Amino acid sequence: MDKISVIVPCFNEEEVLPLFFEEIVKVISSMKECVFEVLFVNDGSSDGTLKVLKEFSKKDDRMKFISFSRNFGKEAAIYAGLKEATGDFVVLTDADLQDPPTLIPEMYRSLTEGEVDCVATRRVTRKGEPVLRSFFARMFYRIINRLAKINIVDGARDFRMMKRSMVNAILEVSEVNRFSKGIFSWVGFETKWIPYENVNRAAGKTKWSFFSLLQYSIEGIVGYSTMPLTFAALLGILFCFISLILICVIIVRTLVWGDSTAGWPSLACIIFFIGGIQLFCIGILGEYLAKTYLETKKRPIYVVKEKSE
Ligand code: UDP
Ligand code: MG
Repeated sequence: MDKISVIVPCFNEEEVLPLFFEEIVKVISSMKECVFEVLFVNDGSSDGTLKVLKEFSKKDDRMKFISFSRNFGKEAAIYAGLKEATGDFVVLTDADLQDPPTLIPEMYRSLTEGEVDCVATRRVTRKGEPVLRSFFARMFYRIINRLAKINIVDGARDFRMMKRSMVNAILEVSEVNRFSKGIFSWVGFETKWIPYENVNRAAGKTKWSFFSLLQYSIEGIVGYSTMPLTFAALLGILFCFISLILICVIIVRTLVWGDSTAGWPSLACIIFFIGGIQLFCIGILGEYLAKTYLETKKRPIYVVKEKSE
């Protein structure tokens, strides 16, 4: 009998967890051909999430939990879940029912019948999402696919089922700056995509602000592409070239017409402009340096405070 592990990162989800529990129990009870473990990762919630999870594990011995010592982020929670999971197949899903658990049987069938190693989902609509957020999300996918060697499908969710071989490959990628969508693509393997319509959260609030999403997308780009560094170097070359031409123009003009270049305002503008470009490029360099710095510390990705037996 195949064992399926379902990993659920939870951060302040006490409101939605009872609804999720009901749904997931319905689904896993209907799949008689498999045994299940549902592994909740409490990512340092400050509400009653841990209490709810303890009740689940008392009620149903398929429900397990790990609880972090503080909030380490969804990426860390995913990594912890993958590490603890013992199933032949592993499902990643959010707790908020935006990832319909009813797709799990279909995913399992695709994996056992087909040749693929992973069945993942992507949203084809972004209904219910702020317009500006959708716009920037689309831009992000366009930029990262252009800059990085990996390919990330627009609207790809973390919601997916993977074979053990792929999970083991992901666990080998033990970097601290984790960007799962990138890692899933980087490890390779055959992925089948199931498109579905966006569903709104069943309860509770989203944990992502615009700023945290922006940071996350920079993490993704810096983590998978060194193109911005090349871009900075090219910009430097371009500016050297332009300044050479300008110097020639000024020399010739002075020799032929004898007039000196007028005014300091133009000079001030140029200094500001070049200064801005330089700071921008140093900023790019800094991003990479910062990531290297954090990576060399080799801090653990998460710290566990408590676990179910
Ligand atoms: N989450 C987490 N740690 C965090 C933020 C989020 O474990 O620091 C979990 C959260 O509980 C949820 C999932 O990640 O199960 C997705 O979060 P959310 O629904 O807020 O993101 P969105 O669907 O809005 O992108
Ligand atoms: Mg959500």
